[in-house]
Amino acid sequence: MAEIKSSHGAFAFSGKKRSGPEDNDGDDGVVAKKSLLIPAVAIGEDPAAALASARHEFGEHGGVNMSIEASATFTVMEPETMRRMFSGELGPDRDFFIYSRHFNPTVLNLARQMAALEGTEAAYCTASGMSAISSVLLQLCSSGGHVVASRALYGGTHALLTHFFPRACNITTSFVDVRDYEAVRNAIVEGKTKVLYFESVSNPTLTVANVPELSRIAHDKGVTVVVDNTFAPMVLSPARLGADVVVHSISKFISGGADIIAGAVCGPASLVNSMMDLHQGALMLLGPTMNAKVAFELSERIPHLSVRMKEHCHRAMVYATRMKKLGLKVIYPGLEDHPDHGLLKSMGNKEYGFGGLLCLDMETEDRANRLMNHLQNYSQFGFMAVSLGYYETLMSCSGSSTSSEMNAEEKALAGISPGLVRMSIGYIGTLEQKWAQFEKALSRIQGPGLLNKN
Ligand SMILES: *Cc1c(COP(=O)(O)O)cnc(C)c1O
Repeated sequence: MAEIKSSHGAFAFSGKKRSGPEDNDGDDGVVAKKSLLIPAVAIGEDPAAALASARHEFGEHGGVNMSIEASATFTVMEPETMRRMFSGELGPDRDFFIYSRHFNPTVLNLARQMAALEGTEAAYCTASGMSAISSVLLQLCSSGGHVVASRALYGGTHALLTHFFPRACNITTSFVDVRDYEAVRNAIVEGKTKVLYFESVSNPTLTVANVPELSRIAHDKGVTVVVDNTFAPMVLSPARLGADVVVHSISKFISGGADIIAGAVCGPASLVNSMMDLHQGALMLLGPTMNAKVAFELSERIPHLSVRMKEHCHRAMVYATRMKKLGLKVIYPGLEDHPDHGLLKSMGNKEYGFGGLLCLDMETEDRANRLMNHLQNYSQFGFMAVSLGYYETLMSCSGSSTSSEMNAEEKALAGISPGLVRMSIGYIGTLEQKWAQFEKALSRIQGPGLLNKN
């Protein structure tokens, strides 16, 4: 990967248990920085297996759950220790904490789970997915820097790259179709391009990125690969497939409760350390910090993420298959007619299926709205709401909601039709109960021309 400046306080998740007070004096003043850079999990490991073998943190009183370190600041026994912490000699890898915007033990424990999930050396959690994305890009690019990004991106990320970065810090982006490898190669300006950025499964069009091939292309030119894996936790492991950095909006599947906004950056320890650097770190200095109480709540949900994902994916697959049989225009990578079906099958972790989102192309916004209105207000199949990963089905018309930041041409290039309904398939109720609700709503609105007759 491209060079990432190392910094003070290098650490990685070595899986060692809390050491105890003898750490206080260090070992002959030798700082075991590099020796801690042990990958959290083996490459190729199943994410659920990796999570189960990550260090389990017990509570202060022997609780099966960890305690919440609800402290903004931390004391030291000796004044000298403070100096050594600020010089980077003593850090969180040895249980020395300065201040919770920098590192908080509870947030760090969630980060350890995120690193295990994604198979990266380290991770750190942030207040939102957008802050994870903006911080990592600001860390990797300086003023004058250049990003090559996929055309099919989450609307907020698209706006960040199109409008905010050029104005605020002279970081520019070329958007390409990442399925066109030649276009990706040609868009990279050697020496200037720092990052290749794409989503593992794109929002909302559900195109799948060829992570190994795109990583090879980028690495040939010294470019760092950053992948947003929000749509496919467990399903895909971009870092295990060759990407350098994985970002997440934890607000979606990983949280699963539609009640928390959170994010994470998963990557090499050197990157996480550089982001926490007291002088140059984007997370440290911009401060999109996660609260320890939020980190605790999320850490209790990650152990059942694999179970939830399997059910989201299973139901999405069943519904997509049935919708297609009814003659609806359905976009789902699990269907054999999806252009990326084979690619996802070859890259995906076994037994997780093809993702929890599907799209129905209703062609016009009016038809899309009629369908969603009936699905919510007549048959209770789901809710009209943006976001995804909730236990209830969430539906939105992408062109006029989460992708409304894009203009008509950008939407057309990204393949977003005005009638595209994105559905995040929930797992509440029984599969047949919910399917009956879908059919009931559909039969209510069926007019001439709605279904493509096959
Ligand atoms: C929601 C989302 C984000 C932004 O995350 P927040 O947690 O809302 O800040 C980024 N990328 C994708 C793909 C998303 O769906």
